[in-house]
Amino acid sequence: MSWEPIVKSRRDWEVVPHLHDYGDIRSSFSWERARQELDGLPGGEGLNIAYEAVDRHATGRLRDHLALRWIGRNGEVQDYTYGRLQELTNRFANVLQHLGVAKGDRVYVLAGRIPELYITALGTLKNRSVFCPLFSAFGPEPIRARLGIGQAKVLVTTESLYHRKVEALRASLPHLQEVLLVGDAHKPTNVPGTKDYYWLMAEASDRFAIQPTDPEDMALLHFTSGTTGTPKGAVHVHQAVVAHHITGKLALDFHKEDIFWCTADPGWVTGTSYGIIAPLTNGITSIVDEAEFDADRWYRILEEQRVSVWYTAPTAIRMMMKAGLEPVRKHDLRALRFLASVGEPLNPEAVVWGQQAFGRPFHDNWWQTETGGIMVANYAAMDIRPGSMGRPLPGIEAAIVRKTSEGGIEVVREPEVQGELALRPGWPSMFRAYWNEAERYQKCFAGGFYLTGDLAKRDKDGYFWFVGRADDVIKTSGHLIGPFEVESILLEHKAVAEAGVIGKPDPVAMEVVKAFVSLKDGYEPTRELQRELMGFARARLGAVVAPKEIEFLPSLPKTRSGKIMRRLLKARELGLPEGDTSTLEG
Ligand code: ATP
Ligand code: MG
Repeated sequence: MSWEPIVKSRRDWEVVPHLHDYGDIRSSFSWERARQELDGLPGGEGLNIAYEAVDRHATGRLRDHLALRWIGRNGEVQDYTYGRLQELTNRFANVLQHLGVAKGDRVYVLAGRIPELYITALGTLKNRSVFCPLFSAFGPEPIRARLGIGQAKVLVTTESLYHRKVEALRASLPHLQEVLLVGDAHKPTNVPGTKDYYWLMAEASDRFAIQPTDPEDMALLHFTSGTTGTPKGAVHVHQAVVAHHITGKLALDFHKEDIFWCTADPGWVTGTSYGIIAPLTNGITSIVDEAEFDADRWYRILEEQRVSVWYTAPTAIRMMMKAGLEPVRKHDLRALRFLASVGEPLNPEAVVWGQQAFGRPFHDNWWQTETGGIMVANYAAMDIRPGSMGRPLPGIEAAIVRKTSEGGIEVVREPEVQGELALRPGWPSMFRAYWNEAERYQKCFAGGFYLTGDLAKRDKDGYFWFVGRADDVIKTSGHLIGPFEVESILLEHKAVAEAGVIGKPDPVAMEVVKAFVSLKDGYEPTRELQRELMGFARARLGAVVAPKEIEFLPSLPKTRSGKIMRRLLKARELGLPEGDTSTLEG
């Protein structure tokens, strides 16, 4: 089934989208000019992410504007204005000074979405140390590995996480000099080998002058999701803030009165670039919810907080779809103006569901830990072709490339031909290294391009379409099949909640398509349903592309950032070792 485009009309604009004229804005765009939207450190002393995010607003007319509203698990609320955030992040920078933590030293956080995480991140950047977030649900081994790889000097965590996951590892982490504990229920802590976060904060001054920061100074260390293998530590620099800021504006269409909710955890790059930095540099209000996904709770937050721009992920959207339209109808969601999604391909079904549920489609966008910010997007003013990830943002040159027989790279100029998605390096939030893995980094470049490892195609109007990760693409009887296309068709069936598709080795066809499917509530995994789904897929995809096998699972294995782990489905299918499962959802 091909999906009708969702056509936008100027008459529907509630505000004029920043990227209202793609051609014009793209052709006059330069990163130098984008940089001019930021202030830079006073006295021309460089560029620091935290200064742009906090200080320049706190010393200006946004001092009393709400920067962060934190909603605790039990519904308690804490508000932080830009002024207050400046005070607290200054204190944390002074704590680091007091502990002898220097420029370039790595400061890790292992915590849920608590206010201290946000304060630590920004205070660390003020001190020109490197912020590295860890997802709080990691078990001890992935924590040890990541602390070890980045040679963490400081770890900020909570008392209970420390006892459960870190204490036993201390002996194997010689570089880890300081562990700062946030007491459970804010009670002071007294744990050997650690210091109390609040005690140090109380002792520290609330004034801090950021020292000269070179735009190329390292700022962030982000581990990838580990969907395809061992996670890599991507290195980002302070200059990345130019991209965070401008993509927040152009791709997420931030306007000054917006209330923005990025549902991603800062343990992943989305939760930092857009959960912390971009909304702050743009001077808007961000909502942070401590709790995990719950459809009712989310609708309530959208309504009560009058969220206007919402950035979430396909897994969450599919779970909301699973709960149906009824819960949505109970809420007044008229404040919602712009809906966006990232992290995995967004099935056309889900894009259109946004339209039914919220009167607005979801706008898919594409990027990676390595790119540091959004690269390809369905922006607000754009007609949407459901299933497409959009067009390259201003300042971003994207191409489809393929390897030549001589081992080089050539650009695929014809539309609709699939190849690897490649980007011309040069945007500010481009990763500068994989930490301590020079060779792995070098392998990402060829012919003047950064090779993303994702396969895609471009249509004649310049829309990009995701096909699959290079590692996940299925080769069957001389065809190349992207799992996304097959999964999206299965999702169109009323019984299907989630689908993951792999290539299963086959002596004749090389590989055959096999689908794993989880069902919506109220459907039983019967042989009849299996047959019905096979027929449903065959009628739409043809015999070559449709799955030859369908297996029902109660749920699909996913990374903690919500990505379907097809490599795990495949390993399990073939009885092979599961590889690195440190990021597997528990
Ligand atoms: P690893 O590199 O360790 O295997 P990962 O690639 O999943 O993990 P991330 O950097 O978190 O780690 O995810 C980026 C990847 O997620 C992209 O390369 C792409 O495969 C997928 N992705 C992100 N957004 C989209 C999107 N809108 N459509 C399709 N795929 C997407
Ligand atoms: Mg990747």
